[in-house]
Amino acid sequence: MYTEREPVGVVGAIIPWNSPLALLTCKLAPLLAAGCTVVVKPSDITPVTALMLAERTAEAGFPPGVVNVVTGGAEVGAAIASHPDIDKVTFTGGGATAKHVARAAADNLTPTVMELGGKSPQIVFADADPEAVTNGLLSGIFAAGGQTCVAGSRAYIHRDIVDEVVRRVVARAGGIVLGDPSDPATEMGPAASDAQRDRILSMIEQARAEGATIAAGGVVDPVLGGRFVRPTVITGVTNQTTIVREEVFGPVLAVLDFEHEDEVVKLANDSDYGLAAGIWTNDIRRAHRVSRALRVGTVWINTYRNISYMAPFGGFKQSGYGRDNGIEALDGFLQTKTVWRLLGAVQLVVWGGVALDRGVNR
Ligand code: NAD
Repeated sequence: MYTEREPVGVVGAIIPWNSPLALLTCKLAPLLAAGCTVVVKPSDITPVTALMLAERTAEAGFPPGVVNVVTGGAEVGAAIASHPDIDKVTFTGGGATAKHVARAAADNLTPTVMELGGKSPQIVFADADPEAVTNGLLSGIFAAGGQTCVAGSRAYIHRDIVDEVVRRVVARAGGIVLGDPSDPATEMGPAASDAQRDRILSMIEQARAEGATIAAGGVVDPVLGGRFVRPTVITGVTNQTTIVREEVFGPVLAVLDFEHEDEVVKLANDSDYGLAAGIWTNDIRRAHRVSRALRVGTVWINTYRNISYMAPFGGFKQSGYGRDNGIEALDGFLQTKTVWRLLGAVQLVVWGGVALDRGVNR
């Protein structure tokens, strides 16, 4: 007897509009290494990088038909998810869309991988270095204008240092340089679409209506206008405030405080999402204890946003299932075939339900 690992076959890869090239390559590399072919559907908002990458794969000598790109919106995605000749669907995007994709794929029992959204907590203990924490909170939420699934959008800061950390974060957020993302002097770009800007602003307004304080930002930049939402820091919220529960996908940090470790673990886990978390402390035992208690797919200790093609990445709970990156991603594009071979004997009739190892069928 032996086993073989075979490619699953034709993969449907459905990609969101944010970081479209990076998110595509982390799916392409393992599936191609596994020997699969792929039909990619980029977001209809950001299709160009997928088309350019497909051209490069042709130039690099991939045979025709290995990397295919089909552009379009929901209808095209749905056609891929429900197609009987698609052997696996790997999806990155929002939770509501993921449920449509999973239902469509279920009709053919097509397996799926779901990389979905997050509402990732950053937990700051009183012994953490305030400067490092400030840098980590700022880059955790404001990189790419908060338009990343791992945005550290909930900060839980120990009561002893919350005022100091908020003062630092608000001061630095006010100085962030907005502008053209291709200009090296720019620190944060705009929202990716008018719809995205409107959603960010309406969620800020809703937070205000629910009693929150806008400690920084909360508006479109008065000079640049357009889609340039100022880096926003919100205080005076609880774990029940909508902006603490729902993904904004924009530059909005909600700040809460806490007293005890058990309390903050409960608060951090009290979320539909479970994508990532940051822990800031100089107590290594506490860091790993809290890391184990958090129901999330990635934990960063005294750092944030590190992602590697070698490190498995994915979510718990409504943040999805399956993993991109690492050996787990490669494994997900392979399936196992077990081969039994009769050696040195004639097959006998076997009446039992299963024939356990009889010494000859090896
Ligand atoms: P989205 O769910 O609206 O769209 C994702 C993709 O699905 C797009 O290509 C879209 O055209 C397609 N689609 C839409 N309706 C479909 C349907 N009925 N059937 C099949 N395909 C369909 O997401 P978005 O707005 O493009 O991206 C933002 C979301 O993606 C956020 O929630 C973000 O957190 C999440 N995201 C997750 C990760 C991760 O790795 N976990 C990474 C980036 C983004």
